[in-house]
Amino acid sequence: MVTDERTAEGQMAEAQIAEAQTGEEQIWTVLATIADPELPVAITDLGLIEAVYRDGTRVRVTMVPTFSACPAIGMIREEIRRRLQTLPGVDAVEVTVSFAVPWTMARMTPTARARLFSHGVSVRREDRAGGSVECPFCGSTNTRLENPFGPTLCRAIYYCLDCRNPIERFRPPGEVPE
Ligand SMILES: [Zn+2]
Repeated sequence: MVTDERTAEGQMAEAQIAEAQTGEEQIWTVLATIADPELPVAITDLGLIEAVYRDGTRVRVTMVPTFSACPAIGMIREEIRRRLQTLPGVDAVEVTVSFAVPWTMARMTPTARARLFSHGVSVRREDRAGGSVECPFCGSTNTRLENPFGPTLCRAIYYCLDCRNPIERFRPPGEVPE
């Protein structure tokens, strides 16, 4: 009898853990469908989400901003809140922006880099001497900075001297404008 109770308790605890995990996985799945309003990349691929906690009907999401002054942060927060509140069993959604952990380019997934590149947005290659800006259209590094202030604070405009295309480059936070 004692053994049976233990087993039942054990099974219940396992079920609760499984439910909690499923709950958080569900949150991550929803977050993966939210794109950055300024970049054609999911916020999860950009490495903007630091942590997801689910406690019953309450959900807490911690974000790491790519660029502290980026006005997109407010829009993303609202979108996360709006989308997660539609999930069944979710009553309260809290989205906090954490500055404790700095966002770095390393937080971006290869998917994010590839997506940016395919949309004409170059990402500075840290493995290259001098950090050449590679043209997403022809692969040339014969590029020149045209305007350090692109359409948003996160982007700078370059020009490819080989294929003569304008290039946008994703600017990491804290980078000194050229
Ligand atoms: Zn080019």
